[in-house]
Amino acid sequence: MRPLLAHKTVFVWSDLYYNYSFPGDHPFKSIRESLTKKYLEQKGLFHEIEQVAPDPVSEDMLLEVHSREYVNQIKRMSERGQGMLDEGDTPAFRGIFEASLVRVAGNLKALKEIESGNFVHAVNIGGGLHHAKRDSAGGFCVFNDIAILVKEAEKRYQRVAILDIDGHHFDGTQSLLYQDDKSLKISMHMFHPNFFPGSGSINEIGEGKGKGLTVNIPLPPGTADDAYLMAFNEVAYPVLERFKPEIIILEVGGDSHFGDPLVELKLSTMGYAEVIKKVHELAHRLSEGRLIMTGGGGYNYDATARVWTLAIAEIAGIKETELDLLHDCCSTASTPFVIEKVKKIVEKLKEVHHIS
Ligand SMILES: [Zn+2]
Ligand SMILES: [Zn+2]
Repeated sequence: MRPLLAHKTVFVWSDLYYNYSFPGDHPFKSIRESLTKKYLEQKGLFHEIEQVAPDPVSEDMLLEVHSREYVNQIKRMSERGQGMLDEGDTPAFRGIFEASLVRVAGNLKALKEIESGNFVHAVNIGGGLHHAKRDSAGGFCVFNDIAILVKEAEKRYQRVAILDIDGHHFDGTQSLLYQDDKSLKISMHMFHPNFFPGSGSINEIGEGKGKGLTVNIPLPPGTADDAYLMAFNEVAYPVLERFKPEIIILEVGGDSHFGDPLVELKLSTMGYAEVIKKVHELAHRLSEGRLIMTGGGGYNYDATARVWTLAIAEIAGIKETELDLLHDCCSTASTPFVIEKVKKIVEKLKEVHHIS
């Protein structure tokens, strides 16, 4: 492999990530992380990508976005090891506090490595738990590592952009940063009556000083590569470009993949790769390369691990033909009905966000 200094990438990892895995038949399992590690090793990516462990962080860091009462409540339930942390999606298990904290620490390590100039890109597949809110867990997420990362990044950078391509709306991240005027928040997600979490309509655009800095791209079930990329190219991309971020945070939930059992978006690994390639190019063009990729949801474990491995290879600038084996066979196509729907959504978004 050739030297890849321009794309020097660090992979933040702790074996404690395995502990964030819900028991029984709960869909959120850290097998996604172990499979990704396996692929990265098999494909020789660790010859080019350095691994570092998160530094220990004080729990006070959580207070950047969570209340003291909530943090204490999680600690108590973590010791007890039972009960529900939300209305029924997120059960407590013994040690869930520590397992959640280390994932936050991973994001902060990623930022530190970029700030110090040791690396241009950083990846923390343990991060991306975007449903957690100030006083509540939600959708398998306990602490909102993304919002904490943004708050920390804002101490150094004037303009921080988040693009969240998880199949679900980033409701926690949105609510924690809704009035924030130093960050641009973009979410591409499935939107449909009764689909979790229910928020993320076009008209949710931020409040106060943050008005206009939240961009929701709600997509109908059945949105495949073609329509998804149209929405990305015509809305997310120009909005990111216009914002001129100093650093980009990319939340790559694997559940927009067509094989996901919980979300009915139909992205293939090729669709994902195209988005990631473009965001990577933007980071080099606008942000001196500064790019942090996190994980997120993903309930087809193998598809999620393949999406993440391919994303990491793209960001690190590694183009081995061996990697092609991780791709799906083919790109996906939306039905004409879905394409028409997405076209209308794009038109509306262009109006709301003044995109020419
Ligand atoms: Zn690069
Ligand atoms: Zn999700």
